[in-house]
Amino acid sequence: MNYPNTQLLIAGQWQDAADGRTLPVYNPATGAEIGRVAHASIADLDRALEAAQKGFETWRDMPALERQKIMRRAAGLMRERAEGIAAVLTQEQGKPLAEARIETLAAADIIDWFADEGMRVYGRIVPSRSLTTRQLVIKDPVGPVAAFTPWNFPINQVVRKAAAALATGCSILVKAAEETPAAPAALIRAFVDAGVPAGVVGLVYGSPAEISSYLIAHPVIRKVTFTGSTPVGKQLAALAGQHMKRVTMELGGHAPVIVAEDADVELAVRAAGAAKFRNAGQVCISPTRFLVHASVQQEFAAALARHAESLKVGDGLAEGTQMGPLANPRRVVAMDAMMADAVEQGATVLTGGRRLGDAGNFFAPTVLSDVPLTARVFNDEPFGPVAAIRAFETLEEAIAEANRLAYGLAGYAFTRSLKNAHLLSQRVEVGMLWVNQPALPTAELPFGGIKDSGYGTEGGPEALEAYLNTRAVAIANV
Ligand code: NAD
Repeated sequence: MNYPNTQLLIAGQWQDAADGRTLPVYNPATGAEIGRVAHASIADLDRALEAAQKGFETWRDMPALERQKIMRRAAGLMRERAEGIAAVLTQEQGKPLAEARIETLAAADIIDWFADEGMRVYGRIVPSRSLTTRQLVIKDPVGPVAAFTPWNFPINQVVRKAAAALATGCSILVKAAEETPAAPAALIRAFVDAGVPAGVVGLVYGSPAEISSYLIAHPVIRKVTFTGSTPVGKQLAALAGQHMKRVTMELGGHAPVIVAEDADVELAVRAAGAAKFRNAGQVCISPTRFLVHASVQQEFAAALARHAESLKVGDGLAEGTQMGPLANPRRVVAMDAMMADAVEQGATVLTGGRRLGDAGNFFAPTVLSDVPLTARVFNDEPFGPVAAIRAFETLEEAIAEANRLAYGLAGYAFTRSLKNAHLLSQRVEVGMLWVNQPALPTAELPFGGIKDSGYGTEGGPEALEAYLNTRAVAIANV
């Protein structure tokens, strides 16, 4: 299967790094090197920044309708190219081809939605206190954006940022993850091939800390958006604060799943089970802390373990694979350490709990029961295929546990009672709550966290606000 090397995109030209430096890219299913990605130097970043400024000036002045047409063309190209892009994504990231296909096609939907929403960026006319004065509220694009994205959803994390930036008239310079470079490059290529002018989108790879510290501090960049871990997000937000840059932070989570006494247990297993093992659990909104009413805990735990055991784990490109490898060897080491800690603290391993095979980064779908609150898996973001279960007696107790951690990204609840659903929607401190259903993060709904999971949102009209300046203008007749 062909896997392309990845170049930088600077001023509309695909190119190697000025000093020719590259990094290896590995297939997580085999451990084999499959390609290389260009490693930008400061000289490359300087050229990319200059292009982003010029691109911004062109794109800002283009009518929203023209921008919409170009963006919709890019969405069409993603649909046409979906099969090839999905295969590239699976090779570098590991997820099953079916999931890679969904991610690619979802990107097209997201571009379409933002393209249209960009035509509805309205200002206001505010009644003035004098008949001779007219007061306007004007929304302008904030300027060139620096975006930093991780390896778990290499396309989705970029498209949410790029589509919102382009829809509002901003240019965007993306530093995508070096471990999964070719799929985001295919997304950026769709924008370029659709006719986005030179410099409006740029793409670089290299040393994450070097690039982020250089771009965030640079005067050309007016807005910073990051998806990744909470510790790195806090560092980047602090740096952005020093330079007074607007920020959106989509950080880690540790999603509670509350299964109430009156829940449809079968639905809970089906919905939360599918969400749990998608992308081998390497999902910021993955369900992780399963809080199950004591009266249904055994039934739920046994059914979830059966579901985990039924999953076909393998190379994402192989027919029938339902869960692929972890994206990098670091995740396997992290999973091993979390398992050892949980078992030492008294958790019961219902299934899994160990790596699979010696090639690639495979880890078994895992279900742990009776997990103590002190276990690391109940405190640190697991970011792997592990479901940790604990029983509760009262819903108040479950809500308190859901809110115990500093994270506040996603949450799930299963209950047949409207009263419980209302209580949970009021009390569970998360940016996104799904009740009696799997997660369905659509472009039109806000996507983002509260507390240590970050701020800002990457969906809905609010996502465009993050890329806009609001200005007041008062004009008096003379
Ligand atoms: P990490 O914290 O080193 O990196 C996370 C991401 O941030 C990577 O894409 C990395 O390239 C980037 N990054 C790291 N330092 C950076 C810097 N100074 N400037 C700019 N970008 C930087 O950890 P990792 O081993 O790659 O991933 C492990 C943890 O990251 C997971 O346990 C999870 O908590 C978190 N993570 C979260 C998401 C998410 O969707 N919110 C995605 C990927 C990883």
